[in-house]
Order: sequence, then C-alpha cells, then structure tokens
Amino acid sequence: MVQRIVLTDDQRKALYEALENQQTYTQMADLIGVCVDTIKRILHREGIREFDGAKYAVSPANRLNRLNEEQWDRPCLKCRKQVPRPHGHYLCSKCDKSNKSQWAGVDEDWLVK
Ligand SMILES: [Zn+2]
Repeated sequence: MVQRIVLTDDQRKALYEALENQQTYTQMADLIGVCVDTIKRILHREGIREFDGAKYAVSPANRLNRLNEEQWDRPCLKCRKQVPRPHGHYLCSKCDKSNKSQWAGVDEDWLVK
C-alpha cells in the first residue's frame, strides 16, 4: 500500500510558486520531501500540471473534481464576454441560463452556428 500524501495549503502554494519560477521537479520534490515520481503524481492529481500517459492517471472521482476546479476565460460564444468559468463551458453562465430556458434540449454546437 502506498501512502497517500496530502498537500497542505502551504505546500500547494510552494509548488505553484516553484512552477512559476520554473524550478525542476527534483527541486519541487525536495520542497515536499518526496521523490520525483511522487511529485509528478501529486502535481497531476492536484490539477497543477498535466502529464501524458496513464502512469499519473487519477481516479474518475478525482478527475471530476479537477475538471470542476479548472477554469478558463475564453470569450463567451454568444456575448463574447471574457468571464472565467469552468473549462469546457463555452457560454457564460448568463447566456447558458437564457439558452437553457429558451432552447431546452438544443445542443450548444447548434446554437452558435
Ligand atoms: Zn455570454
């Protein structure tokens, strides 16, 4: 059984800073006191950094959490406002709401054509 390392807020902050400062994974691993493989797994699990490959795959429940937290500020397809919202949402919440009441059941792709 591998012990699961749960990051403290301070550690998470330190990792974000380390990434911003373009520190190596070895340096980040030292920060938390784990090995490089583990730091990559943590970064992936926390949604701080994406890695390719199944090696760092997270469970579906975690993945869902991460998606919920991931934000982007792509312009809304309808009103073009740049409002931060969950990654994958093409409409701002206002347009999304009005769409849903007006066009219940209509696919988002169709609406923007
Ligand atoms: Zn909008």
